[in-house]
Amino acid sequence: PFNIALGERAADRLNLHGDIQRAAEQGQLEVQYQPIIDLRNGQATRSEALVRWHHPTQGLMLPARFIPEIEKSELIGELGRWVLEAVIEGLSTQVDPLPVNVNVSPRQLEDNTFAATMLSLLDDYQVSPELLAIEITELINLEDFAPFEDQLHVLRSRGVSVAVDDFGTGYSALTYLQRFPFDQVKIDGVFIDNIDTSPTDRSIVRSIIDLTTSLGAQPIAEKVERMGQVDTLIDLGCPYAQGFLLGTPAARPEHRSSDPLV
Ligand code: C2E
Ligand code: MG
Ligand code: MG
Repeated sequence: PFNIALGERAADRLNLHGDIQRAAEQGQLEVQYQPIIDLRNGQATRSEALVRWHHPTQGLMLPARFIPEIEKSELIGELGRWVLEAVIEGLSTQVDPLPVNVNVSPRQLEDNTFAATMLSLLDDYQVSPELLAIEITELINLEDFAPFEDQLHVLRSRGVSVAVDDFGTGYSALTYLQRFPFDQVKIDGVFIDNIDTSPTDRSIVRSIIDLTTSLGAQPIAEKVERMGQVDTLIDLGCPYAQGFLLGTPAARPEHRSSDPLV
């Protein structure tokens, strides 16, 4: 049974790679937007773009099903570019858009034209770089990070914000903060899950919030699902949060509004 399972995996993988090349042109890819909420006033402050694949035979596929596979090849660059253009195009058609965070795979940054491509897309669509942030996962090891740094600095100098995603789960969280002036720190859901019941988790999150804030970055708590977590985050002075309780991913991004969401 072990071998059969492996065989199926391999076949699945081959199909994914073949299928994704046609997915964009056949309209199977979609970007959804999940709001990031300012806990001080209950309003959306920005949103995060999350890709979905409406696969013809597999149905709705979430990124965990295909991104790790696609990341093993150059196709991640094409997917990433498609997402980026969809987001920038979306921003260009809104009257009063809020900024959008886009997830960028470390593999995409291996392409040394990444920053230039992003800036020229912004230029083509006449979208202000301040409306865009990129999220880089903390999981990559720091040696891999070195070649990306220059591109990230270029983007930042032009007004694009840079966020560290999944903060606290990698091996070198503090070294990341020492090394690069991140604009946002996204506190991983594993620390938020039990924040309302676990004094340990509360202490960890409190120190991440303090550290992030004193470095001049914005802390954002991920995976907020219960009101108890919101209350604790407000107690700890966390300004921003994201999670199913506050807003699920949806086809349309948030825009500026006077209606509080919570
Ligand atoms: P992430 O960047 O950490 O994104 C947050 C994930 O948590 C999203 O899953 C979101 O739907 C989910 N989430 C949000 N609130 C809650 C909550 O309250 N509870 C729970 N249980 N989950 C919540 P999603 O959309 O399945 O994306 C998974 C990961 O795939 C993302 O994690 C990101 O690393 C990656 N990803 C998504 N879109 C892209 C993309 O366009 N490009 C790349 N390279 N990676 C992407
Ligand atoms: Mg993210
Ligand atoms: Mg995250």
